[in-house]
Amino acid sequence: MYIFFLNRSQNAYFCPLFKKEMSAPKRYTITTALPYTNGPIHIGHLAGVYVPADIYARYLRLTGNDVILIGGSDEHGVPITIKAKNEGVSPQDIVDKYHTIIKKSFEDFGITFDNYSRTSAKIHHKTASEFFTTLNDKGEFIEEVTEQLYDAEANQFLADRFVIGTCPKCGNEESYGDQCENCGTSHNATDLINPKSALTGNIPTLKQTKHWFLPLDKHEAFLKEWILEGHKKDWKSNVYGQCKSWIDDGLRPRAVTRDLDWGIPVPVEGGEGKVLYVWFDAPIGYISSTIEWAEREGKNWEPYWKDKDTKLVHFIGKDNIVFHCIIFPAMLKAEGSYILPENVPANEFLNLEGNKLSTSKNWAVWLPEYLEEFPGQQDILRYALTSNAPETKDNDFTWKDFQARNNNELVAIFGNFINRVVVLTNKYYDGVTPTPNVLSQVDEETLATVKAYPDVISSSIERYRFREAQQELMNLARLGNKYLADAEPWKVIKVDEERTKTIMYVALQIASALATLSEPFLPFTSKKLKDILCHSSLDAESTWNEVKTKEVLIPFGHQIGKAELLFSKIEDETIQAQLDKLEASKKANEIANAVVEPQKDTITFDDFTKLDMRVGTILEAEKMPKAKKLLVLKVDTGIDVRTIVSGIAESFTAEEVVGKRVTVLVNLAPRALRGVESEGMILMTETPDGKLVFVNPDDTAVTNGLQIS
Ligand SMILES: [Zn+2]
Repeated sequence: MYIFFLNRSQNAYFCPLFKKEMSAPKRYTITTALPYTNGPIHIGHLAGVYVPADIYARYLRLTGNDVILIGGSDEHGVPITIKAKNEGVSPQDIVDKYHTIIKKSFEDFGITFDNYSRTSAKIHHKTASEFFTTLNDKGEFIEEVTEQLYDAEANQFLADRFVIGTCPKCGNEESYGDQCENCGTSHNATDLINPKSALTGNIPTLKQTKHWFLPLDKHEAFLKEWILEGHKKDWKSNVYGQCKSWIDDGLRPRAVTRDLDWGIPVPVEGGEGKVLYVWFDAPIGYISSTIEWAEREGKNWEPYWKDKDTKLVHFIGKDNIVFHCIIFPAMLKAEGSYILPENVPANEFLNLEGNKLSTSKNWAVWLPEYLEEFPGQQDILRYALTSNAPETKDNDFTWKDFQARNNNELVAIFGNFINRVVVLTNKYYDGVTPTPNVLSQVDEETLATVKAYPDVISSSIERYRFREAQQELMNLARLGNKYLADAEPWKVIKVDEERTKTIMYVALQIASALATLSEPFLPFTSKKLKDILCHSSLDAESTWNEVKTKEVLIPFGHQIGKAELLFSKIEDETIQAQLDKLEASKKANEIANAVVEPQKDTITFDDFTKLDMRVGTILEAEKMPKAKKLLVLKVDTGIDVRTIVSGIAESFTAEEVVGKRVTVLVNLAPRALRGVESEGMILMTETPDGKLVFVNPDDTAVTNGLQIS
């Protein structure tokens, strides 16, 4: 104890496990990227941000730390106003709808927010306004009149997504005003080549307007030292690399206000008709959400943001790195009373079945939908997503992998072990933990290994390697499964009842350790398992430390409950149904994105009247031998019955087309196809996925030979 405090006074202690100097935080403030309220949440969000943050927060609570997990909805910004316009509702309607859906998804998936707020909340408007005013009073902004794109017809300035044009960097013709989705470059709307208003399609004009800028260049020296020198070793290489490239490019002043009516009004003179740029107000949302929590809980929020003994960690996706590592820290530094993030463990992106997740293309697994189709199975998704977490590179979620993770790991290893332990304990001892005899060497070693697991898993979690941490948890289940398989209590019981008691006793200790250590990863399973093992009636608190230090986790004489399956097998049909659903999305996209052929050169009316088109009926049809595409048809044209060879055999059988009413171009010059003379052409069209369709009159009163004109 003495040594600990001695070192603490130097604000650091040496942790032998990590072989480096670690600060010893008094408390943790953990934030998660604020989801944008223009749609529900999908697996990409969950894998990239919320599951890792929740694992981290749950783990810290289990290890006895003071921790808050803070989140909220990002409800400002241009896309929301565009969506509202398109749907003919108010922006508030849009954010109310999606805030409710998103918040519910987080609760459903066990994301343990201490507070989940929203940036349209009063407390946030107040906090963000005050933050802006403080920086303004301190002279931390530059005010500048610049020329911005203006749509005279819509009578408004065109910020960000209100402008579409050609990206100056990659030439993408559909780039937004603030960022190109093709190459990822962020730019100003005025940088776009051939800009067009997204509101009216008009070519915008330039008009003068005043804005407030945060001079990032002024903070360059600090950012260089703080990130490039200070966090070279502990920040993930993808995060560090992106920051370095930004800083090396040279930092420029960035506008923090916009000419819009949806957002937080600029609270100083001259700010009429302007709002704070969404990227200025959103990260302040972490602070206002903390204040909201503190007010509700009767706590003081300030230490969580202003005490240097607090460890601040931002969980985000890679698209938010620059805002959390450069812009927000510069804002906090300029304000002066805040701490800076100690780490920003941003993840890369998750793909789905080899393709980029996309809201607009409906290429996603939506959480509300998942829960409808896999009720009560949140842990499987959490597990599969963490197993494949895009921690160091983009990764792929596939339904086959999801099925394999469940069937081969959760069911076959974790579930199988627990089920055997609980079933046998009930069968042999009516659920009462037996008294062990002398422990064998294997028993001793097994129990010692169990005690080592908390540190092994901690080491991975504290380095934000959640995938690795979860693998270690599964290794503990493997240890249990192997222990039972090797010890074979179901055989030993027939010859040595005393030895069987020891085996079951050891197995129950492993099961108990799993119940506790699985909580951050599989919270629903952990709870179920603790209930089965009756953890609540133990003289214990099921903490991380107990697994490490407590001599006995489940003492003899402890009564456990009945067996209940933790996981069940997922069948091929279930997975196929999901794949079919994605296939349908793909088809729908192809149809929606089908390119319409441009119009051909104009013709005269005389040109048109040269075409003689008649209504006809197919009387006979047969397949042309050795020709995949061709049917030989006998068609009644009203003039005569003639032979027409038609390339429709891949879409129709001969039987299907007999009796079919069709449109025939009768004066097409005859030509021989495979030796058969074809006297005319049947008019067809083709769907985007390649199916042929007859173009024919839909009125039965139409008779053969009538002219089409
Ligand atoms: Zn581009």
